[in-house]
Amino acid sequence: MKVHEYQAKELLAKAGVAVPAGIVVSTPAEAAKAYEELGGGLIVVKAQVHAGGRGKGVAVGPEVDRGLALAIASGEKSRPDGMAKGVQLVKSAADAEKAAASLLGKTLVTYQTGPEGQAIKKVLITVGHDIAKELYLGLAVDRNTKRPVVMASTEGGVDIETVAHNTPEKIVHEPVDVALGLQPFQARKLCKALGLSGDSAKKGAVFLKNFVKFCIDSDASLAEINPLIVTDKGEVMALDCKLNFDDNANFRHKDYAALIDEDEEDPAELRAGRSGLSYVSLDGDIACLVNGAGLAMSTMDLIKYHGGEPANFLDVGGGAEKDQVLEAFRILLSSDKVNAVLVNIFGGIMRCDVIAQALLAAYDEIDFRVPLVVRLEGTNSDIGKALLEKSGRKIITADGLTDAAQKVVAAAKKHSAA
Ligand code: GDP
Ligand code: MN
Repeated sequence: MKVHEYQAKELLAKAGVAVPAGIVVSTPAEAAKAYEELGGGLIVVKAQVHAGGRGKGVAVGPEVDRGLALAIASGEKSRPDGMAKGVQLVKSAADAEKAAASLLGKTLVTYQTGPEGQAIKKVLITVGHDIAKELYLGLAVDRNTKRPVVMASTEGGVDIETVAHNTPEKIVHEPVDVALGLQPFQARKLCKALGLSGDSAKKGAVFLKNFVKFCIDSDASLAEINPLIVTDKGEVMALDCKLNFDDNANFRHKDYAALIDEDEEDPAELRAGRSGLSYVSLDGDIACLVNGAGLAMSTMDLIKYHGGEPANFLDVGGGAEKDQVLEAFRILLSSDKVNAVLVNIFGGIMRCDVIAQALLAAYDEIDFRVPLVVRLEGTNSDIGKALLEKSGRKIITADGLTDAAQKVVAAAKKHSAA
């Protein structure tokens, strides 16, 4: 799960990682008040959306063509006067109010959001700093070393993907042992790579140690501080922060539920999560209901192999009771891009005849507007298949995975042509 910048900074501050003071607001009047509360001077007003590139992004209303907005946010077209950026520097309460008004209620389009953009419902009002150096700091999980790896670069403030592509030697990697945390020699090495010396190096080492400890303790799967700045006074702090938590560790962090912004999440994925189903939305038109993640992967591979594209997959896990199947079908069919549904279930402990009955009961409660292909394998699969065939419903049964994939690809093509 992702969190907003203001949430990430609150968590970092609690963990002893230096961040600029800030107040999150949802109205322009509150922005003016926050300006004063933060002591005035240089203040930054920042749109809160789950995407980067806000500084170059544009906040637009419904009247602006989104393709044009994306071209401006990607630097392909020049920005017309008066088109608000997602990050604005202000020097008075009145300007803070104006900046907030130019963002709140608008849609922010950045090179990361795509043309649809993301709704701005909150802005972060934060103390501005004079920047002496803009650095990059990140942490990701390295699957080769099976460790978190800290990435540091002097090339901060810019698109790090470009740095990684053109000048990979400018990014230093330091794997961390989770049991030991970041060791002092590693912190020194990273500070050196970041060009920090004297007092800034001391501050940098504390920053790095607390940042890495925070990432380990919070089960962050990805953390990115771009830019990490050194101020004109030699302070080291996180000017921005993007944070992803590993959902598989959410059971350890009951407090994360309060951090979810439902408007930023896929509605079908949220709904599935509430019923204990795992759902992943994709770009094609064939919906897949499967039991087990491995089966989901091979189902999608075969659909693609036979010329189709999966619209999503929904994993009902070990069980396939009627209520679960019913909710699963509703979620799958909630997307209007779906042209066919494939049910691919392996009945090991679950018997296929029981699954077939659940499918039929669910089928009857739903207006099934697209073809349904079912492949059942495992215990009592012949009984299950016979039940479906004799049911008189318009269900296409399949023998084996290849047959199922071919039938569903053909059915989806026929349905979309009709
Ligand atoms: P992003 O574009 O979504 O990654 O948003 P950032 O939080 O990184 O802000 C974008 C840019 O705004 C930064 O790279 C800085 O150049 C600028 N910026 C943000 N805060 C400050 C600040 O306190 N002082 C100055 N001078 N620039 C700032
Ligand atoms: Mn940034």
